Amino acid sequence: MGYSGFKVFLEGLRGNTGWKPVWRDPAPKAHYDVIIIGGGGHGLTTAYYLAKNHGITNVAVLERGYLGGGNVGRNTTIVRANYLLPGNSEFYSHSLKLWEGMEQELNYNTMMSQRGILNLAHSDGQMDAFARRGNQMRLQGDDAVLLDAQGVRDHASFLNFDSQRFPIRGGLLHGRGGTARHDAVAWGYARGADQFGVDLIQNCEVTGFKIEAGVVKGVETTRGSISAGKVGMAVAGRTSQVAAMAGLRLPVESHALQAFVSEGLKPVVPGVVTFGMGHFYVSQSDKGGLVFGGDLDFYNSYAARGNMPAMEHVMEAGMAMMPMLGNAKLLRGWGGIMDMSMDGSPIIDRTPVQNLYLNGGWCYGGFKATPASGWCYAHLLATDQPHPVASRFTLNRFETGQLLDEEGTGPRPNRH
Ligand SMILES: Cc1cc2nc3c(=O)[nH]c(=O)nc-3n(C[C@H](O)[C@H](O)[C@H](O)COP(=O)(O)OP(=O)(O)OC[C@H]3O[C@@H](n4cnc5c(N)ncnc54)[C@H](O)[C@@H]3O)c2cc1C
Repeated sequence: MGYSGFKVFLEGLRGNTGWKPVWRDPAPKAHYDVIIIGGGGHGLTTAYYLAKNHGITNVAVLERGYLGGGNVGRNTTIVRANYLLPGNSEFYSHSLKLWEGMEQELNYNTMMSQRGILNLAHSDGQMDAFARRGNQMRLQGDDAVLLDAQGVRDHASFLNFDSQRFPIRGGLLHGRGGTARHDAVAWGYARGADQFGVDLIQNCEVTGFKIEAGVVKGVETTRGSISAGKVGMAVAGRTSQVAAMAGLRLPVESHALQAFVSEGLKPVVPGVVTFGMGHFYVSQSDKGGLVFGGDLDFYNSYAARGNMPAMEHVMEAGMAMMPMLGNAKLLRGWGGIMDMSMDGSPIIDRTPVQNLYLNGGWCYGGFKATPASGWCYAHLLATDQPHPVASRFTLNRFETGQLLDEEGTGPRPNRH
């Protein structure tokens, strides 16, 4: 079903009775060429690009709950390409370009809003680091502007410029960064994949793998056994659990991350502002709510919900940099489960089990990766070769020590 202004107008007159489900609800078939486990952003884009870029359409996405009910529908929707390290830099640059063409490609309004991301700097050392990062971003072909304190004041005058502990020295502005409506991204790709003939199967939990002589032959699910030529995992916070069913122990831990939204306010926050020293970031939704978050809960967990200590911690950081936050009423908070890798960077690779593939370790930055992750994972599944922009996302880097530690915090998953 296509969307147009005329259709919306017509349905308004008809009491919105003419809309149809935008994807089918098929029963699982006995066999697929490719099975993707996980109907989040990465699973759906993988299925879409398998069909679109490689002509592989005998594909099923198996989702244990409902499509988009995981982290893709729980994140703070920030999209950016402001990475430093070769390996990450070109991947996220590719991803941002896909974001920029997504609405036209899917004919779906993902509410992509490129109003910029400002990272605040509070010391000369941080300014030097941002200058280096900004230069790397520009060398990669992306945009970056180093602002001095006055530049930050001109951009976001509501910040606390009188803080003794965190004086604002300047910031790095990435103008093409911004936000997008997360559910719409999942729905748009789901509809696109369905139109190519991909089976999107909800309420279908994978409970085990069929592995013969080191080769995966299919999966066991709550809706029966399904055979497959290839199986790709894209289960985010459940990565280590699902991989364990295939006998794999991964360098990935699960941690909860929370986010919050305030009552609707008049427009005040231009794009996204991040306060890395205190770990707080904020944007404003189109409805006016301040959307913000901060640190992980710091201990391993599968509890996708909020709790008071983390809430207090985030509010404290928020109040330090944006005191006016204290006047807003908090509407709600929620949590999701992050697949934190040991170096903070993701994995898109084959596994030691033949024909079983891994997409995971996205930590708390996987939303912005959504289109490129699917693009590159589909490439790997279709060709058995890593896509050039994702060639550093290997599993064996944790054996060889060639880590992609963007923040330089060492092998501590909860520190990245
Ligand atoms: C509070 C919060 C804020 C965030 N903010 C940002 C941000 O601003 N920018 C950013 O880039 N990233 C952000 N992230 C991270 C981002 O949301 C994730 O990295 C990304 O969504 C993970 O990929 P996904 O969409 O495929 O995951 P998911 O949507 O979680 O998809 C995985 C799916 O696998 C399914 N599954 C699991 N096990 C099984 C099984 N056994 N069988 C079948 N299905 C299974 C799950 O039900 C789930 O639907 C944030 C995350 C959270 C929680």
